Amino acid sequence: MFPDKFEYYAPKSIEEAAEFLNGHEDAKVLAGGQSLIPLLKLRFTSVPQLVDIGRIKGMDGILFQGKTLEIAAMARTADIGENQEIRKNFPILSEAAGLIADPLVRNMGTIGGDICHGDPANDFPAVMLALGAEFEVTSARGKRIIQAEDFFTDIFTTALNTGEILTKIKIEDNKSSGRYLKYTKYAGDFSILGIAVDLSMDGTKIRRAGIGLTNCGATALKARKAEEFLEGKEINDENTAKAADLLLKITDFVDDDNGSTKFKEKLLKYLFKKAVKGIGGVPK
Ligand code: FAD
Repeated sequence: MFPDKFEYYAPKSIEEAAEFLNGHEDAKVLAGGQSLIPLLKLRFTSVPQLVDIGRIKGMDGILFQGKTLEIAAMARTADIGENQEIRKNFPILSEAAGLIADPLVRNMGTIGGDICHGDPANDFPAVMLALGAEFEVTSARGKRIIQAEDFFTDIFTTALNTGEILTKIKIEDNKSSGRYLKYTKYAGDFSILGIAVDLSMDGTKIRRAGIGLTNCGATALKARKAEEFLEGKEINDENTAKAADLLLKITDFVDDDNGSTKFKEKLLKYLFKKAVKGIGGVPK
């Protein structure tokens, strides 16, 4: 199907894009188009104007500023997955990038789009929660910072205000190691559910735990209670099992063709234990 009529606009700078969005509040940002274009073509949505930020120079950079990783919003999923520095310092991020969709979608889709789409089944949001990321957003009114844990507000809904563009993702190096595991019906599919676990160790004790859940509720979920329980503890079966039980307190599973609530609860606990074992508490 063809989408409803829309005006296409390709600004040369983020300021120009922000100015345009400021004057056209129903306009939508177009990044890699891997979620938005299918919605338009299936006529699940229509927009009067599309603002393509893909032609703005410098919107796809990946760089380390001291201890902070800065990823510009238009960085493609494939580039993030193949970036050696990210693979070394943030293994959880490259693991997640490699599990998103298929090479075609990964070559076009961007981290900014994956985050802003607000789909609870998208993979990057849970990783952002586990890593404690923060997002720089820009509009005609200036810039502001939104913490990842405040960003995902409801299904397909984020804390972005009208006219705001996610421009940069900032992630502190917590000297951690992490895993992103997802369970799907077939390769390249969205997850039935997924989990991001990021642990920083002091000797044999967990100094910081970051846990994000994919497709376990209306949004990506930050498992605060399980994180707090693990901090100061050793990694052992007893502590892992108790933390796994705490995860279930925040999930909102339904019985559907992906499986029963009981199945998903068991699966989540299994993936969590596998992720913690996979990290093995080996300090970086
Ligand atoms: P777009 O489609 O361009 O935009 C998505 C939404 O975000 C739009 O509402 C747009 O306005 C908004 N937006 C985009 N960038 C910004 C910005 N910088 N500031 C403000 N708003 C912005 N995703 C997964 O995570 N895991 C999967 O397994 C997965 N499987 C898929 C399989 C297929 C076949 C397809 C087609 C998609 C799949 N996806 C999956 C979804 C897709 O990978 C992501 O949603 C995609 O990366 C979105 O990025 P994009 O750049 O294409 O965003």
